[in-house]
Amino acid sequence: MRGRGGPGGGSRADSVRLRTAKGRSASSQRWLRRQLNDPWVQEARRLGYRSRAAFKLLQLDERFRLLRPGLRAVDLGAAPGGWTQVAAARLLPGGGGAGRLVALDLLEMDPVAGADILRADFMTEDGLRAVLAALDGEADLVLSDMAAPATGHAATDRARTEALCEAAWDFAARALAPGGAFVAKVYRGGTERSLLARVNRAFAAVRHAKPPASRPESPETYLVARGFRGAAEG
Ligand code: SAM
Repeated sequence: MRGRGGPGGGSRADSVRLRTAKGRSASSQRWLRRQLNDPWVQEARRLGYRSRAAFKLLQLDERFRLLRPGLRAVDLGAAPGGWTQVAAARLLPGGGGAGRLVALDLLEMDPVAGADILRADFMTEDGLRAVLAALDGEADLVLSDMAAPATGHAATDRARTEALCEAAWDFAARALAPGGAFVAKVYRGGTERSLLARVNRAFAAVRHAKPPASRPESPETYLVARGFRGAAEG
């Protein structure tokens, strides 16, 4: 995808003005204006992706080569399904083969060809059990784009995102096959230190990356760990 400004550069002249602001709160007006003027949102619509987030995974894959046909992957926090669409296209070309894709979210999600879609809370035993059952074996790739709804209180949002990342890591350490990879949304400033130390020990290569489609003002970044050394190290 093209540079940080987004696809097509997003000229000011194209910006959409909201004419009927009546009845909307200031924050929902801000959100709507941002959506309407966001070139990644427009590009997602043009290409048939369900979310602009699809570009984040495409860009991470461009840099780290994570998605290959035939891999077995889990997509945590998958709704509305942009990452699932990208992962399905790359892991399950033709809708099948040796690859497997299990996608989970708290929210209802439309089907994606070839993927097992689960609706559950990953932070519960039932959610975890459902993913393990659907995976039915080891994973080559664990993706987590899970994010708790923003409260506007930075410390609370950070703590909740860290808890989701930690849960995703506990799962990855249990489910990944040697050589596997783990990608998780974390907050800028890095992953919580004890978690990062564990991830560093368990993988051959660990990086933080902020793909161009991630909004510059968002505190999110991604932890990308490759070359899992095996469950005993996790
Ligand atoms: N990757 C998605 C895409 O490409 O369309 C966008 C994911 S969105 C940023 C974060 C998602 O995490 C939300 O859909 C939310 O429901 C989900 N989530 C948050 N906490 C969760 C939990 N405990 N279990 C499952 N999903 C969760």
